[in-house]
Amino acid sequence: MRPPHGGPGLPQVRRLVTAVPGPGSTALARRRSQAVARGVGETLPVYVTAAGGGVLVDVDGNSLIDFGSGIAVTNVGNSADSVVHNVTDQARRFTHTCFMVTPYEGYVAVCEELTRLTPGGHEKRSVLFNSGAEAVENAVKIARAYTGRSAVVAFAHAYHGRTNLTMALTARSTPYKAGFGPFAPEIYRMPMAYPYRWPGGPVGCGQQAAGQVIDAIRAEIGAENVAAVVIEPIQGEGGFIVPGAGFLPALAEFCASAGIVLVADEVQTGFGRTGHLFACEHEEIVPDLIVTGKGIAGGLPLAAVTGRAEVMDAPQVGGLGGTYGGNPLSCAAALGAIATLEREDLAARARLIERIAMPRLRALRGRYPFVGDVRGRGAMLALELVADEPPPAGQTAPRPDRAVTVACAAEAHRRGLVLLTAGTWGNVLRLLPPLVIPEHLLVEGLDVLEEVVADIARHRYGT
Ligand SMILES: *Cc1c(COP(=O)(O)O)cnc(C)c1O
Repeated sequence: MRPPHGGPGLPQVRRLVTAVPGPGSTALARRRSQAVARGVGETLPVYVTAAGGGVLVDVDGNSLIDFGSGIAVTNVGNSADSVVHNVTDQARRFTHTCFMVTPYEGYVAVCEELTRLTPGGHEKRSVLFNSGAEAVENAVKIARAYTGRSAVVAFAHAYHGRTNLTMALTARSTPYKAGFGPFAPEIYRMPMAYPYRWPGGPVGCGQQAAGQVIDAIRAEIGAENVAAVVIEPIQGEGGFIVPGAGFLPALAEFCASAGIVLVADEVQTGFGRTGHLFACEHEEIVPDLIVTGKGIAGGLPLAAVTGRAEVMDAPQVGGLGGTYGGNPLSCAAALGAIATLEREDLAARARLIERIAMPRLRALRGRYPFVGDVRGRGAMLALELVADEPPPAGQTAPRPDRAVTVACAAEAHRRGLVLLTAGTWGNVLRLLPPLVIPEHLLVEGLDVLEEVVADIARHRYGT
């Protein structure tokens, strides 16, 4: 049975009619292996025909619960009505002119919305791109043009993309960097305020880490040489690391005093995901530049840099842009997605998702020693899985257990729950449901996760 359309009208059920993946997906996987480069990874080889609300439907007719949102993209749901309406209407009028050749209103309107929605009441400007990585690269260009400096500070566990400059900003070697160097120069990596693994323990982690970072910037780079500090307010691919309290405000204060452009990479955390429109708001910091992407346009490719007018206007005319940046279809989609986000107060939905899910995840930590840490905000929640043994000498947390994490994700997939992993050591299960997921599906997805963790515990540890 093949549903003709996706979107919110799709039956909101988990229903398995074949093994996962089924025969249709397996046949497509064979074609893929002969046509698609193997460097493109894959979490779960089910081939999707329709999606909406909290489900993905595959070619075999299986309906899976979506805890991934295409990596934090479909915050408003797949094929959301407002997105489909706006994109269809735009496609009938014109599909492309190139904003740098003959402009159009949609691009301007998206930039106006970014001014209105991002933190800070100062005068702002925005520029639009195709991907998060492209936007991060351009934030660095803008900061360098404004400051006349070249050094850029990034953090342990950071992920900013796969282009050359963003590979240099990204921390993890395999799979993102190995074999792809040489990398861009003038990138300096600093420790992250990672409470679960901070040597002194979680209390005071934010202050201590900020002190170390600021000392190292002064001593090893020279603050006067630093153009930008680039940071995810909650780290995404690195393992949903919420920085220790006080870390971001201390960095923001230091950047302001040293004339350094603070760039918040909110590509994964933005647009309601963490329970505020932007994760910076949890710490009440106002970055100079904010990079957005993923959740901005309900599934169409769009990303942006938004920030202080004097910083944004530093690059010369013609220095920023691209053929497709701010494509009319993506802008139409973004305006639809933003309207939906506000009309349905999806940031509040993210807080509700946290209220429902967090106590259940904490209960898992209480019950199973290999669930080492539970963290996150809003609809961006994670379990860090570790060896069921004491921490190695001199460390505060047991060693990461990637194998058990992979086993949990694979078992969840077999039971019809799309669940992603993350983390520098690949040992984090992350929950990123669409903010519109119906409550009964959220609860059922959490039931599946609990069953999976219990079964894995029984098989591996006999508990
Ligand atoms: C996904 C991501 C990027 C890269 O975005 P792409 O659209 O994949 O290029 C950059 N920063 C963060 C925090 C991300 O999560």
